[in-house]
Amino acid sequence: MKKVTVLVPCYNEQESLPLFYERLCHIMSENPAYEWELLLVNDGSRDNTLQIMRNLHARDGRVSYLDLSRNFGKERAMLAGFDYARGDCMIIMDADLQDPPELIPQMLAYWEEGYEDVYAKRKTRGKESALRRFFSLMFYSILQKTTKIEVLQNVGDFRLLDRCCIDAMKQLRESERYTKGMFCWIGFRKKEILFDRGDRAAGKSSWNFMSLFSLAVEGIMSFSIAPLRISTIIGTVVSVAAFVYMIYIFIKTLIFGDPVQGFPTIMIVMLFLGGVQLLSIGVLGEYIGRIFNESKHRPTYIAREYDGELIK
Ligand code: UDP
Ligand code: MG
Repeated sequence: MKKVTVLVPCYNEQESLPLFYERLCHIMSENPAYEWELLLVNDGSRDNTLQIMRNLHARDGRVSYLDLSRNFGKERAMLAGFDYARGDCMIIMDADLQDPPELIPQMLAYWEEGYEDVYAKRKTRGKESALRRFFSLMFYSILQKTTKIEVLQNVGDFRLLDRCCIDAMKQLRESERYTKGMFCWIGFRKKEILFDRGDRAAGKSSWNFMSLFSLAVEGIMSFSIAPLRISTIIGTVVSVAAFVYMIYIFIKTLIFGDPVQGFPTIMIVMLFLGGVQLLSIGVLGEYIGRIFNESKHRPTYIAREYDGELIK
């Protein structure tokens, strides 16, 4: 019998988790042809989530849980899930029921047809502010223009991965993670299905504007060196302009002499160049910071407990 793992990273999901489990149970019992494993990763929740996981595990043998030592963020919690999943395939879902479990049978059908990465694309995006939607769309278009690999728009982490994709993902162990891009990077045979993204069942989204912004910067910085290229281009353009201006001033001085003047010009040029230089140094710094973080070779996450046993 083929084993299917459902991976759910959870951060403060005490209200949603029981609802999620109920909905998933229907799907699991409607598909007895598979052996099911529900792998819950507790990403350092501050509420009762861990206790709920323990109870579910005690009640239902299909439920496993992994407790991380603190909040590492969803991206790393997912890597932890890849490491501990035992299934022949895996479905990644959010605990808040924004990803409808009813889509799972369709994903499994495509998997049986031989597709290795069945991803769910959002037809609609659920309830969110106009500002968030605007920035999200802008981010995707910047990312698409700056990277060579294709990053799928409106596709979240909700997807089915074959064992070969899981093993590939396990090899990508960088600590600055942008998982959505990695799914594209590893390749394999992909298939798209469309769905309507619902609203959160309970609780509230743990992403605020700043955390989404830094995920966006992460996406661009970890998948492209275009910002460095842009600095080079701006530098070249400014240098050429400066050279032309230099010749102009030189000739003008030869012909008309040199009455001391031009304070505004000097100020403008100085401030402009200073701005461009600081900006470029900032961009460089972003990359160096990433090199610094990766060069420490720290483990991407630390796990505390798996199915009731402490991890040594
Ligand atoms: N999540 C997590 N660690 C975090 C933040 C979120 O494991 O630090 C989980 C969360 O429990 C949920 C999923 O990631 O299952 C998606 O989070 P959320 O619903 O807050 O994001 P949104 O749907 O707003 O993008
Ligand atoms: Mg959500």
